[in-house]
This record gives sequence, structure tokens and C-alpha cells, in this order.
Amino acid sequence: MEGLKTCGLELLNELKLESMALLSKYTTLRVGGAAQWLAEPKNEEELKSLICWAQAKQIPCQIIGAGSNLLINDSGLRGICICMRKIQGSKLNSKNGLIEASSGESLPSLSRQAAKAGLHGLEWAVGIPGTVGGAAVMNAGAQGSCIANWLQSVKVIPYKGGKSFEINNKDLDFSYRNSLLQKEELIVLSAKFQLEPGHNHKQLSQVTNQNLSHRTSTQPYHLPSCGSVFRNPEPLKAGRIIEELGLKGHRIGGAEISNIHANFIVNTGNATAEDISKLIAFIQERVLNEHGFLLYPEVKQLGFSPKA
Ligand SMILES: Cc1cc2nc3c(=O)[nH]c(=O)nc-3n(C[C@H](O)[C@H](O)[C@H](O)COP(=O)(O)OP(=O)(O)OC[C@H]3O[C@@H](n4cnc5c(N)ncnc54)[C@H](O)[C@@H]3O)c2cc1C
Repeated sequence: MEGLKTCGLELLNELKLESMALLSKYTTLRVGGAAQWLAEPKNEEELKSLICWAQAKQIPCQIIGAGSNLLINDSGLRGICICMRKIQGSKLNSKNGLIEASSGESLPSLSRQAAKAGLHGLEWAVGIPGTVGGAAVMNAGAQGSCIANWLQSVKVIPYKGGKSFEINNKDLDFSYRNSLLQKEELIVLSAKFQLEPGHNHKQLSQVTNQNLSHRTSTQPYHLPSCGSVFRNPEPLKAGRIIEELGLKGHRIGGAEISNIHANFIVNTGNATAEDISKLIAFIQERVLNEHGFLLYPEVKQLGFSPKA
């Protein structure tokens, strides 16, 4: 722990740096082994100290948000896992439509806050259980809209530490469920959005509620999952392809292709990451054999060998 002192953190206890922390508690799939180290900083200063410590120790650093798009190997992760979900906060300007949100702010909560303030733009985001940071990285989207349509800029800091800086929307290389942030080792600290002000807040809240009920009635929200497992091979839908192969309900161990939505793999209770990984490979093989193309996973798989 020597490095921590020079990194500005005197009290390890205050930071609650946990060793061998079970990552299944940090993913919506509820699977994943232990992180060698895990911390949940509550502000930028704590985050910077942790990055500094990881650098001093020369250990790998993995950033996670709400873990809603992650499949983490049963054998866990070496180094430090930094969970950003406690770095919260948002400022909404109902007059000019500007929002500034910290990376750990929950997307559903931001969607509701925006509707309440009469700001149109994020009604589609209410059912996406991620953080603002994770949503920017993934260019999360639903119902024909996505983060890229409303995000103005992100403030980031390199994994290796240093000065924070802003990147504007046009420089983030956004495309379908993809962004520059998936390639570069940058941590999202906060994001600015430009929404449309002056809308009727009751109507916006109504639309937001309808969007959520539509999703909960067409997707398996009652079971642990990571949302859509595969990117859609546009213009086709991955769920439709998997369903048409008769794979709904197919199981490996405790992992099951949802009977409600075929692009979801659900953890029926005792799934392991290996079960899920095997089910992903099984679906890919079936689709490749039948259609001649590979479905590309949307879920980020951590701690697996590149071949997995
Ligand atoms: C029930 C359910 C429904 C879903 N529906 C949708 C949907 O409709 N549309 C959609 O797009 N997605 C959907 N998802 C997937 C998921 O919610 C989104 O991808 C979300 O944006 C991920 O955010 P997160 O905070 O959970 O990120 P995580 O899953 O924790 O991380 C995802 C990636 O982002 C990186 N990351 C996270 N935070 C940061 C940060 N602050 N700085 C740098 N890197 C970071 C991680 O390293 C990782 O590579 C759904 C998931 C579930 C469980």
C-alpha cells in the first residue's frame, strides 16, 4: 500500500479498497469471479489517487460502471477494478436544455430528471440500467435514438493519469453501439448533453413511463441479464435470427436464451460466466452455419482469452 501515500490518500480505510471482491455483485448478469482489488471512488480526487496507486504498483486497471453490459470471467480480474457508479451528480438547466452529469449518474434517473424539467431527448433511455459514463462508451440507444444524438462532450482522464480534458461529440467517432472511448484508455468523468427545452413535463414523463412499460413487457427484466448480447447485423435483428433458429429456451448450465427475447441470455439462478460464454459461442456457431456470418457480441467480455 506504500504508493497510496504519495498518491494523496492517507487512509486506506476511507477509500475501502477491497481485496478479492466478488465481481458478480457488480454486474447485472450476476456472474464473475473476484477482482484482485476493487474500489468505488466517490469523487474525482479519489479516482485520481486510485489511478496513481495502480500506476505506482504497475497493475492493470479496469473501469466499470453499473456492470450492465459486462460478462466477467469466473476466474476474475487481475489488478484493480474501479467502479464509477458512486461518482454521481447532475445539473439540469430547464431554460437552455443543457445537462451536465457525472459519470456514475444512473441513466434511468437522468432520463426521469430530464422529463421532469421539460427537457426532451432522453425519454428512450429510461430502461437502460447503465451509468452516464458506460452509456457514452457504448453509445447506448433504444427506439431509434442513442447517446450520440444528444451528447455534446465528455470530460475524460487517461487510465494512466494526467490532466483531464474534453472531447466533443464530433471527435468521439460514434457509430452503432460504438465510440472512440472503446478503443482509447480514457476514463469518462462527466458528460454534457444538449436537450430540447420548453416541453410539457407531464407529457414527457408519460412517454418515459410508457417506454419503460413497453420494455418490461417485451424483455426479461425480471431476471439477471446484460440486455442484448449481440449487436444487430443491420438491417437484420439478432433476436429475430436467433428466434427463427428455434433457439429460445436453449440452456447451457444456468444460462438460458430468454423465451421472451432471443437476444437476451438470462441467468436462471446459478449460471457461471463459462455457461454464458459457451451459450454465446453456441449461438454464433449456429448462426454462422445457417447464415454464413458471425454475430458480433455487444456485451464486453472481460478476463477471457482473446479467442473466447
Ligand atoms: C435489462 C437491460 C437492458 C438493456 N437495454 C439496453 C438498450 O436498450 N440499449 C443499449 O444500448 N444497451 C442496453 N443495455 C446494456 C447496457 O445497459 C448499456 O450498454 C449501458 O450503457 C452500459 O453502461 P454501464 O454503466 O453498465 O457500463 P458497464 O457495463 O459497466 O461497462 C461497459 C463498458 O464501458 C466501460 N466504462 C463504463 N464506465 C466507464 C467510464 N466512466 N469511463 C470509461 N469507461 C467506462 C467499461 O470499461 C466497459 O467497456 C441493457 C442492459 C440490461 C441489463
